[in-house]
Amino acid sequence: MILQMMQVGPLGTNCYIVGDDDSREVTVIDPGGHARQILETIRSLRATVTGIILTHAHFDHVMGVEMLKRATQAPLYVGENEKPVFENVEQQGERFGVAVSPLPDPEHWLKEGDEIKVGKLTLHVLNVPGHSPGSIALYEPENGVVFVGDVLMRGTIGRTDFPGCSLAELLRSIRGKLFTLPDETQVYSGHGPMTTIGEEKMLNPFTKNYV
Ligand SMILES: [Zn+2]
Repeated sequence: MILQMMQVGPLGTNCYIVGDDDSREVTVIDPGGHARQILETIRSLRATVTGIILTHAHFDHVMGVEMLKRATQAPLYVGENEKPVFENVEQQGERFGVAVSPLPDPEHWLKEGDEIKVGKLTLHVLNVPGHSPGSIALYEPENGVVFVGDVLMRGTIGRTDFPGCSLAELLRSIRGKLFTLPDETQVYSGHGPMTTIGEEKMLNPFTKNYV
């Protein structure tokens, strides 16, 4: 499996290049900026981009989308409930004093249960609202990895003080969806280091009272 993490954009968001060793097909999850460096990494991997996927549309996860899409012609995938957030990235940036250009239209609006093929890999879409109304997680069962955006992070959980956020919903997504995955599943978040479902069940203070 190809799995490359890069910290990109104004907030050092984790961008993941994920794909299949044999076909060299990859998808780029959350290109939050530094599109040139992402393209450079893809070239050095001798890989072809077959898709760009957003775990959610907060401005720090999307700022490399336009250039990456222009350079690769790859289709863009976004959770269907994320439309209102996706459409107001410029205003989101303004609140942080960051100029964000409007985004190209997605080719695919994703819903729970959708599957995205990347060479031999299959990414399964889970709806995990709370940090953002249309947050999705991407689960790859063969390799036991899940990309969760800002829903769950090592020892903490996503912020819920933005418009459209809900703490109750976020905890439901973590407990009802992510915590049903096998304990050994590796969790790749939008910020911070990798963790596992088992470790977060044991140690995460925000979700601890449940287990
Ligand atoms: Zn976010």
